[in-house]
Amino acid sequence: MADDPYNFLRPCNSNVIGFCNCPQPTPIWLGQEVAHNPVNCMICGMSVRPESVPVPKAIISPLAQWSRIYSALVELFSDPEEYHEWAASKLHDIHSGVNQDGLSLARTLSEIRICFFWYVRPEQWDVGSCPKCSGPTSPNEGGFCRMQICEPCGIVMADRSDSFADFMVNFSRMIEERSNDT
Ligand SMILES: [Zn+2]
Ligand SMILES: [Zn+2]
Repeated sequence: MADDPYNFLRPCNSNVIGFCNCPQPTPIWLGQEVAHNPVNCMICGMSVRPESVPVPKAIISPLAQWSRIYSALVELFSDPEEYHEWAASKLHDIHSGVNQDGLSLARTLSEIRICFFWYVRPEQWDVGSCPKCSGPTSPNEGGFCRMQICEPCGIVMADRSDSFADFMVNFSRMIEERSNDT
């Protein structure tokens, strides 16, 4: 729909994916996009409709643009051969442009709803320590997977028990299963 302001955050076909259906507004995280939408639910893990947050109109376009770049890097990171190292150098560096932009967008969204930025940590990272402030992280209970968060920085990352590859496989599977349910 041409007059839909959220057009750039819509999946090509919104019938093919399920959305967060949690009864209360839940904390959200920005990360790997599911069908063009990088806004996900901390509790069920599903995609959150941008208008239900609601994502302010002023950041729809920057959020969509950031999402393409972040998600493209995650795709390249998942490539075991040619691009992995390069993409890792961007994703693991909390000061890289893509991470700084993600943190800044999450901070903006946090004014509306608690929002975390998903940090793709190095495999050997000490998950008890925040990549930004070096302060201690805490486990996020009741979420869709085992996560560690730094609340002051608004950062979330996978717990040490999951490698990123495992996380992505489980995440994709969960999205598929829950989408079939809805
Ligand atoms: Zn949810
Ligand atoms: Zn921190």
